[in-house]
Parts: sequence; structure tokens; C-alpha cells
Amino acid sequence: MLLLVDLDGVVYRGAAPVPGVADVLAACAAVGDSVVYVTNNSMHYRADYVTRLSAMGAPVTPDRVVSSARATALYLAGLDGVRRVLVVGAGGLERECRDVGLDVVTAAHAASLHAREGLNGWDAAGAPDAVVVGLDPQFTYQKLTVAVDCVRHGARFIATNRDPVYPTERGTRPGAGSIVAAVEAGAEIVPVSIGKPAPLLLEMAARAAGIPVGDAVMIGDGIATDLAAAVAIGIPCIIMLTGVSSRADVDALPAERRPVAVAVDAAALAAALETLRPAAIRSAAIRPAPIRPPAV
Ligand SMILES: [Mg+2]
Repeated sequence: MLLLVDLDGVVYRGAAPVPGVADVLAACAAVGDSVVYVTNNSMHYRADYVTRLSAMGAPVTPDRVVSSARATALYLAGLDGVRRVLVVGAGGLERECRDVGLDVVTAAHAASLHAREGLNGWDAAGAPDAVVVGLDPQFTYQKLTVAVDCVRHGARFIATNRDPVYPTERGTRPGAGSIVAAVEAGAEIVPVSIGKPAPLLLEMAARAAGIPVGDAVMIGDGIATDLAAAVAIGIPCIIMLTGVSSRADVDALPAERRPVAVAVDAAALAAALETLRPAAIRSAAIRPAPIRPPAV
């Protein structure tokens, strides 16, 4: 099976691992499942996740981490005529864009030229082909001005995701969607959005594993993101109650939008995955090895 696994609220919650989930994923990988991590968080580079997930015992390699930043970079790399991009976002998004060969101009650089030399945003950014917007903790009015100028001049407008808020250990903060909304309001253009609930992130993740997305199972904690993306693609979704959603939230959903299973913890996740596993693989996994007759 291909398992598309959300991170925050599923594998860990803030800094703390969700007990047992990394072990369940390692057991799945051991019986041949492909595990790809899919997160709307656009701020970090793949290698950052590899370090963190490996330390928890989760199966991971860099190509199996498809954040909204990585998926956005892959999407841009596949577009004709996109070479130079203005990035409004954190360092991880800039690095993912550079990794696929894009010529990156940071919003901080363009905003300083705009402020210091009185250039309009389009000239300050060097006439980019696209504007990419993710969560930028150093977002300013100057950066907003540059991004809006570029979109108004015809640069493509791509959002990593539109999550309005972002949960942190110190409370809820504005998410990438809040910044995207500011650019959208100023430019009067609706962006292409890559992250969940749009299907593009999951499609890129399946491509990274070389498996059709229709064969995947989504494991997530967000109804508006993980479950909605799975429903959009038509794949089963297991909702973990270890993150942002409660059982009452799931119970309130109409029948056609319910997850295939709800898991309160790692053991329930393992049980739910077994029920989804094709019967042939399930029986092979639980049946003891056959006793061979002695050679004569
Ligand atoms: Mg989550």
C-alpha cells in the first residue's frame, strides 16, 4: 500500500512524538508499504524532516518527504516558461525552489530594493515569471507590495497552501493562507494552491513513490485538509484523533464525507490499516512461515 502520512497531529504533535505511530509506520514499511509524508507546512527543507523523523524511528528518506514547499517547487519546475520566481516564504521554500533549478529572488531582497531605490515591485524583483507565497514569519507591507506588483504585472500566482491558521505550542498563529489572502486581495487574482485540500500535494507525493495516487491511503488529523484532499481524489482516509479533530467533528460530517476509519491512537491506526490491506497481503503478513518438509 501507499501510505500518505500527514505529520503534525499524526506522527508528532509540536515537539513530542505521538506514541507508537513511528513504530506502526516502520512495521508497515517492513511488510512492503511505501510511506510518504505530506505536510502543508512550507517553512522547512526536506532534510530537516529526515533528521527529525529518523530520530523517532519512522521510515524516511529525503524523497519521501513532500511538503507543500517541495510540491510547489516540483509544480513550478513542470511549468513552461517559469525560470525566475519571487518567493514570499521561509528559508525551506526558497531552498526547495532552488533545488529544482529555479532562479529565486527573495521577497526580502526585492522589498529592500523597492524601499531603498524607489523601484516598483516588478522591477525590484527582476520581472519574475511567478510569485510563490507560503508562510513567511517576516512578512511585511513592503513584501506584500512587491508580490502584488508582480502578480499585477502578469507573474503567475502560486500558493503553497491556504491554511488560514497555524497551530503552535504557544497558540494559534496566522497561517500561509492569511498571507496568500493579503496578496490575493491586493492583486485581485486567485492563486493556484498546491497544499491540501487541493489534490496536487497528494498527487506529487504519489509520483515521488512511483505509485498511482488512486492506490493510496491518507492518514491525517485534519478534516478540512487531509480528509478533504482524500475525498477530492477518491481515496480512503484514516482520521487520527491525536491532533486537531475530535470524534464529534467526524460524527458531524455527512455520510459521503466520512473517513474510512477513526483512530484514537497508534494501536487503532494499526488495526485500521490491517482492515484496508488487500486480503492476500494481510494473510501473508499474519500467517506463520510454512513448515517445509525435510529434504530427502
Ligand atoms: Mg496535521
